[in-house]
Amino acid sequence: MSPGAGFGVGAGMSSNILCFVLVGPPGSGKGTQARLLKQSMQIAHISTGDLLRERVALGDEVGRMVADLMDAGELVPDEVVARLVEQRIEQPGCTRGFILDGYPRTVNQAQLLARLLALRRVRTIVIHLDVDYRVVVARISGRQQCPSCERLYGVTSGAPKIPGVCDEDGTKLRVRDDDREEVVRERLRVYEEQTQPVLAFFKKSGYPCVDVPGTDRTPRELATTIEVLIRRVCEGRNDRV
Ligand code: ADP
Repeated sequence: MSPGAGFGVGAGMSSNILCFVLVGPPGSGKGTQARLLKQSMQIAHISTGDLLRERVALGDEVGRMVADLMDAGELVPDEVVARLVEQRIEQPGCTRGFILDGYPRTVNQAQLLARLLALRRVRTIVIHLDVDYRVVVARISGRQQCPSCERLYGVTSGAPKIPGVCDEDGTKLRVRDDDREEVVRERLRVYEEQTQPVLAFFKKSGYPCVDVPGTDRTPRELATTIEVLIRRVCEGRNDRV
């Protein structure tokens, strides 16, 4: 698909900026889909998990506080994440649009985001990756990440060409501290309690939302389905497959 082709961007009161909000439990494949969408739409990929890990790597006081929360599977305070996202959106590379992966995760974050998007008249579509929790736990346990470029490897994201080594830059892969099974279960609990209501908020506020059942499809098939659904929304048609 050519970037933005047929998406009716710029219509009505909207600006030319597109935003896709990816919502789904940890391990639902948000990161993988965000990377595929980034390629097909040529827009920026903003992962709050990655932004926070960059902050942790700085090793300052905020970074240490963030690390403790992430290692326990808890959420980082809304204002810290909201500020990181706002700063990122201002940077070059986001002028065509952006994909939000892992943000918002609370209704308060969703309200902050809604304000920011309205101010910038950003055309927004919410994509819900609906994946069974048992599948999620199996997927996450055992996945690995490159500490340098942050690419993930595993069941959904594909295995590296050489086991234990990043395809992109040859760095030795490692298991994230928050991918241990007990932490994954806590992250799922937090998702159900704090992030599920975000979907209801977006639907109630009139944002177009597409529900994508994600369990039994390959990442490529899922990406194709998502693009079809986005196109339907932009053409004002049904939002389900
Ligand atoms: P996953 O989607 O697999 O949970 P992420 O890399 O998106 O992984 O997030 C890892 C951790 O970073 C979360 O468990 C949480 O501690 C923190 N985090 C990421 N995004 C947010 C957010 N929007 N609000 C609060 N904390 C966040």
